[in-house]
Amino acid sequence: MRAAVLHDARDLRIEEVPDPVPGAGEVLLRPRFTGLCGSDLHFWEGGLREVVRDPIILGHEFSAEVVEAGPGVDDPAIRPGALVAVEPMWTCGVCGPCRRGTYNFCRNMVWHGLSPKGGGMSDLTVVRASMVHVLPESLTAMQGALVEPVSVAHHCVTRAQVGPGGTALVLGAGPIGIAAYLDLRARGVERVIVSEPSAERRAAIGKLAELTGGGADLVLDPAAGDVVAAVRELTGGEGVDASIDAAGVEPAFHAGLGATRPGGRMVTVAVYMKPVAFHPMAAFLGGVDIVPSCAYCNDFPAVIDGMATGSYPLDGWVRPIPLEQTAAGFAALERGTELKLLVDVQGS
Ligand SMILES: [Zn+2]
Ligand SMILES: [Zn+2]
Repeated sequence: MRAAVLHDARDLRIEEVPDPVPGAGEVLLRPRFTGLCGSDLHFWEGGLREVVRDPIILGHEFSAEVVEAGPGVDDPAIRPGALVAVEPMWTCGVCGPCRRGTYNFCRNMVWHGLSPKGGGMSDLTVVRASMVHVLPESLTAMQGALVEPVSVAHHCVTRAQVGPGGTALVLGAGPIGIAAYLDLRARGVERVIVSEPSAERRAAIGKLAELTGGGADLVLDPAAGDVVAAVRELTGGEGVDASIDAAGVEPAFHAGLGATRPGGRMVTVAVYMKPVAFHPMAAFLGGVDIVPSCAYCNDFPAVIDGMATGSYPLDGWVRPIPLEQTAAGFAALERGTELKLLVDVQGS
């Protein structure tokens, strides 16, 4: 079969590799669309090689068709041809976090698509049956590939504990920030303010704001003025109930902390590449809970339901590319000229 194999930094090759075979409790899948994400980009740029040294098949955000269920898979919904989204965590089920139900912190976690287990950028791949979520017929394969990143956003919005009629600030309008925006709107959060330095990304979120009935005036450029002051003005001097840092840079962290009202929450969902200098007194005096949100845990079903009811439109931020253009896609992500690229693995 063909697979996009990352051999070293910026050395991604589309090559022939042996077909995987499903073992007991596993499922053989044919990936359809596979997203390129920030963690893939770190691998592509040569980071994280201390974690994985061998060549790996990339792709942890993907939809797929079931080819064949392995021995002992008795779920009748997992039948040949079924379209599925894959929750790409191989968890152990027996460590403390797994036993407590927080499997996103499994001590023995292996990520499908970021490990030698294989990945979604290949003609075939094998995962455990329990990692497979069968999609309703109304969903497309492109939507299916977005269930994973949208689940990251859904988890962080749940952690933000903001609901109907509330106010929120999203820092950074990359794919996770956009998905968080859509998720907040879907939950009836009335005012969602977005801060994003890129004009292209502000335009993308502005269009989605129109689609979802939100105000385009609530999109701020942090380079143009004081985000904290602007947020206070937009919230009657109060500050927002919750802020979500999907940017992962120090100014965004401080803006989130300063713009959140006393008793509110600031959720960090970004992957920070550098430490942030932070005075604990800022949270102490501001009365803000700082809450990290890592990946997702039991979020896929709600996101699939939300996809089916139109909560997460793909307009203007999702674009398919052929498998052969995967390396060019990473280069575009590095330049910041694309939002979410989905590799059309089968060229459908
Ligand atoms: Zn990802
Ligand atoms: Zn575990």
